[in-house]
Amino acid sequence: MTETLDIQITKTTHSRLAETDFDNLPFGKTFSDHMFVADYADGEWKNFRVVPYGEIGFSPAISALHYGQAFFEGLKAYKHADGKVVIFRPDKNAERFNKSGERLCMPALPEEIFLQGIAAVVDIDRDWIPTRANHSLYIRPFMFATDPFLGVQPSSTYKFIVLTGPVGPYFSKTLRVKIESHYTRAAEGGMGFAKAAGNYGSSLMPAKKAVDEGFDQLIWTDAKSHEYIEEMGAANAMFVLDGKLITPTAGDSILKGVTRDSVMCLAREWGMTVEERPVSVAEIIEGAKNGKLTDAFGAGTAATIAPVGSISYDGEEYFLSDPKDREFSQKVLKTLDAIKNGTEPDTRGWTYV
Ligand code: PMP
Repeated sequence: MTETLDIQITKTTHSRLAETDFDNLPFGKTFSDHMFVADYADGEWKNFRVVPYGEIGFSPAISALHYGQAFFEGLKAYKHADGKVVIFRPDKNAERFNKSGERLCMPALPEEIFLQGIAAVVDIDRDWIPTRANHSLYIRPFMFATDPFLGVQPSSTYKFIVLTGPVGPYFSKTLRVKIESHYTRAAEGGMGFAKAAGNYGSSLMPAKKAVDEGFDQLIWTDAKSHEYIEEMGAANAMFVLDGKLITPTAGDSILKGVTRDSVMCLAREWGMTVEERPVSVAEIIEGAKNGKLTDAFGAGTAATIAPVGSISYDGEEYFLSDPKDREFSQKVLKTLDAIKNGTEPDTRGWTYV
């Protein structure tokens, strides 16, 4: 049986809910009233608490700031019409949280602390969960090293924090993407499979260059040859080519997305052939030219299903069909939304009440 955590609760004396504009929710800028915090020291997790969201103090020497021992997760909570609150597949995020931590030489966080910490803060701030279409409560659990020590070695103390905030759609348009053939997000033997803060730090400059050139996102390619597709920005790259759903194998250098897994499950249920395998740039470009590439999208918690309108490679831009006419991604998006919002029963055990 799972043990119930002893969580100290300190409620805010001034809720910001009434002054929050739910019609204008740019991603990641609005935070709910509370956060969950736990400390790791002397080899154990302790001091479980929900406190008002706000600044926290620590030494400028903490190793997270100097050597990047920091990683995070991203998941969402939804409120159904009957008021029931569900979180989408948090067990998958708990599992990935520990894979990230292990790679960064950080302590494991028992699943019950991850789940109960999230549940505590989502429960106290349930009025922050938006109910309008395409809106949800984004949940950001993260862990970072807090030893005030400049030696390059694993920290002995850490913090686990969960922030939440209401969000609307991450992308509001069809994406114009560019295949990156110089910069690399992650390499074999590296930490691309982990949700390490450093992976995102290193992606910013190449992504900004692409934005300056007029693109919305990059398609990352493999570190060795740049001939194989890896990911799309901070989402998994998925394609329908010749009637089959194809996506790069999630090895060392690719984050194994919860959305990616959900999309593959649905496709298999619908009788589609699903291939997880190396996906070459050449076959995607060829498919875009000959019309066999009938769908392309980024799959992720924040991005949901983000349709790709055109793919640029080597100075050429290849246009795909109008996203409204794409059978597969439209059906996937509708089905996932219905499961999350409770308008379709969850027969797969994907929602955590
Ligand atoms: N790849 C990267 C690099 C990401 O940051 C994300 C977003 N978490 C994903 C893929 C998609 O993962 P998920 O579906 O679990 O959100």
